[in-house]
Amino acid sequence: MIPAQFEYVAPSTVEEAVAALAEFGDEAKVLAGGQSLLPVLRMRLADPQLLVDLGRVEDMRGVREDGDALVIGAMTTHHDVLRDPLVRQHAELIALATRTVADPQVRHRGTFGGSLAHADPAGDLPAPALALDAEMVLVGPSGQRTVPAAEFFTDYFTTALEPAELLVEVRVPKWTGWRAHYEKFNRVAQAWSIVGVAAAVRVADGQIAEARIGLTNMGPTPIRATGVEQALVGQPATPEAIRAAARHATEGTSPTADASADVDYRSHLAEVLTGRAVLTAASG
Ligand SMILES: Cc1cc2nc3c(=O)[nH]c(=O)nc-3n(C[C@H](O)[C@H](O)[C@H](O)COP(=O)(O)OP(=O)(O)OC[C@H]3O[C@@H](n4cnc5c(N)ncnc54)[C@H](O)[C@@H]3O)c2cc1C
Repeated sequence: MIPAQFEYVAPSTVEEAVAALAEFGDEAKVLAGGQSLLPVLRMRLADPQLLVDLGRVEDMRGVREDGDALVIGAMTTHHDVLRDPLVRQHAELIALATRTVADPQVRHRGTFGGSLAHADPAGDLPAPALALDAEMVLVGPSGQRTVPAAEFFTDYFTTALEPAELLVEVRVPKWTGWRAHYEKFNRVAQAWSIVGVAAAVRVADGQIAEARIGLTNMGPTPIRATGVEQALVGQPATPEAIRAAARHATEGTSPTADASADVDYRSHLAEVLTGRAVLTAASG
């Protein structure tokens, strides 16, 4: 299908982009990589009057260090996130999850910030962002604010972003020295997660000293598996101990049934994949 008519602007600064958004309010949409938005427009699930294309806002691209944090520009493509040595060194979990996103074509266009702002429960990047305590830096007409990942994802495809606000960058504490793994289950290669598990662990003297686990597609938003995290701490990094802790994976989740999996199957996957993710991370 062909999208409904819209006006189009391509600003080169964050300020210009916010001004354009503020003028049109609810009737404006931000265009990042377009990998999720364009299908929505073509199916006429949205018909904004204005598209604000962020493709020329250079300040929103790239990865840099800022003290104890890694700062990833919202317009950094999945491809560039994957190639970045700083991401691999300080936030390996994000690189590992990004590697599972779609195919090279989509990864060349799709952006880190676009994936987080889109907030698809089956998207692979919200759960790592949550597990790593990332902070979203938002800029709108009344200035800048920082929202922790735990408060950013509020419902299916819904975030704390206000209509005229932009997600400008994402600050991720440096998790240097932690081991990580993203375990994703899908029916065909290069597709969204039926269930995904983002795991980062710190192992000391053969024991799990700290653990951070985020679940993909086990509810309307990414979910922190705090029961598993608590059960892992102080345990030996053995398959038996890890599998026992992984039995807590469904606590606090609210999975839905769809064509790919019913609720019981998703719950079963969450336990199995959590065990695998933690074991792989701990053995890394
Ligand atoms: C064939 C295919 C397979 C895919 N497979 C996967 C997969 O396996 N795993 C996965 O996680 N994803 C997958 N995706 C989605 C992909 O990761 C997209 O890149 C992502 O969902 C959206 O990023 P984008 O930059 O294209 O954003 P867009 O499509 O441009 O925007 C998405 C939404 O976010 C808003 N938005 C974007 N950027 C900002 C911003 N900076 N501030 C405020 N709002 C913003 C837009 O207004 C829009 O509502 C797939 C996509 C396709 C087409």
